[in-house]
Amino acid sequence: MTDSPLRLRLDAAALTANWTLLSHLSGAAACGAAVKANGYGLGARGVVARLAAAGCRDVFVATWAEARDVAGLGVSISVLHGVRAEDLAERPANARPVLASVEQVRRWRDAGGGACDVMVDTGMNRLGVSPQHVADGLLDGLTIDTLMSHLVSADEDVPLNARQRDSFAALAGRTSARRMSLANSAGIALGPDYHFDLTRPGIALYGGRQRQAHAGIRQVVTPEAQILQRRRVPAGETIGYNATYTAPHDMEVAILNLGYADGYLRCFSNKGGAHAGDAVLPVVGRVSMDLTALCVDAAPDLAEGDWVAMDYALPQTAALSGLSQYELLTGLGARFDRVWA
Ligand SMILES: *Cc1c(COP(=O)(O)O)cnc(C)c1O
Repeated sequence: MTDSPLRLRLDAAALTANWTLLSHLSGAAACGAAVKANGYGLGARGVVARLAAAGCRDVFVATWAEARDVAGLGVSISVLHGVRAEDLAERPANARPVLASVEQVRRWRDAGGGACDVMVDTGMNRLGVSPQHVADGLLDGLTIDTLMSHLVSADEDVPLNARQRDSFAALAGRTSARRMSLANSAGIALGPDYHFDLTRPGIALYGGRQRQAHAGIRQVVTPEAQILQRRRVPAGETIGYNATYTAPHDMEVAILNLGYADGYLRCFSNKGGAHAGDAVLPVVGRVSMDLTALCVDAAPDLAEGDWVAMDYALPQTAALSGLSQYELLTGLGARFDRVWA
């Protein structure tokens, strides 16, 4: 299906190159991939198939529905939210819960267990059992593949990073875990002390850059929208809801099939932009639910039915919009066709 007037152009070579770079930066540790939230909006199956071909063996999802979505692609799947009673029935092969509370550990034991992962909380206070629980023997007898923890502020240089690393490192040898894993994308850049046996990048795979070590990360996602019509707006008239833009001169405008319902949020009003080849096309007026207007004075030949590429480099677009790089990707809606090239 590629007939929607809205598509995400997904650069498979860039995705693979980003994973290869992060794998290299992970040193001796294996490099996995966080593919929760539908592969950060790109489409989880498409992401996992390409990363598996590049050599990735471990992926991380949030829920069992997400695990089923990426099953059968030859990778090991860790389910970060652990296991509820209602999850026990339908579990794909190669998927393990990341047990994240005393209750989940008990549930897993009572159900007959098997291989699992365990999250230890070293400061996030979100999911995970405490280091004290581990010391007290909570995990004794469990068959643990990967023991993990998660960094609070890996994208900042703060003392908490080393404190979390040290309290996690102190657990080495205290459980049956075959591997230990701490670093997300930004954590990989903190250096070898943070790599342990397996890293778990997400945002950097998809073009996110948070640290200098990510300088070589390439953009993967480009939203593209089709032009519904081209019109002339006379000097002094306004464009869009609440008349937030007044044409300073007679102006050529293209109306795009794209709006905040697609995740192109209202913060891009009079701020965002697009390109058609080299022509720079600023957003004019308010982004509506399904429509956005561009000034196309710079592109005299652009017409109904043509496509434009929205400016969506993640670091720059986050700075411009005030949205996080994560929100920019995971908000992209279902009306986009996801097209790999
Ligand atoms: C989402 C997530 C990651 C990936 O984080 P990024 O900042 O996107 O690299 C890694 N580990 C856990 C537990 C996560 O929830």
